[in-house]
Amino acid sequence: MTPRGKKVAFLDRDGTINAEVSFVRDVTGLVVLPGVVDALHRLHAADYEIVVVTNQSGIARGLYTEADLAHIHATLHERLHRLPRAYLHCPHLPDGGHGYGHACDCRKPAPGLLHEARELLGLQFAGGVLIGDSARDLLMGRGLPLTTIHVRSGKPAAEQRALLREAGMEPDHEAADLAAAVDWLLGA
Ligand SMILES: [Mg+2]
Ligand SMILES: [Zn+2]
Repeated sequence: MTPRGKKVAFLDRDGTINAEVSFVRDVTGLVVLPGVVDALHRLHAADYEIVVVTNQSGIARGLYTEADLAHIHATLHERLHRLPRAYLHCPHLPDGGHGYGHACDCRKPAPGLLHEARELLGLQFAGGVLIGDSARDLLMGRGLPLTTIHVRSGKPAAEQRALLREAGMEPDHEAADLAAAVDWLLGA
């Protein structure tokens, strides 16, 4: 069971928490989007456990290492006022590479990171929310009891909307950014 009856908020990283760039290779590429810290404070105050789930194939591509990513997340954690409980990532490519050459079940849209979080942190999905700028961020939650919110703060929204439609998925809500998503979620 989730500690103290808390709900979980699964958040994508790039394009949802920080500005979308092709790859964040070091902290100079890390720009937290406007309103995000306040939105995280509001989620936290509303008893949500915040878990960041992110595809980081830049590791498999050899653009940065696990140690680089750990440093990026340590820096991000400070900038986010230490509000997220965990940061889980998939370092793989769909077709492997750089010693990561196996098909994995953690690269979004696969749901592996959600299940990993559930097991690692003792969370329950029911009553939780999944927020991201990419179709694959929301598709990973298919069939799970999570509210899904598409945010337009990252990848071009029309393309992602089309991908969702192709996959036969309609998110529960679409919002301009994380702050607006949290407004809607918390009924502000
Ligand atoms: Mg994203
Ligand atoms: Zn993976």
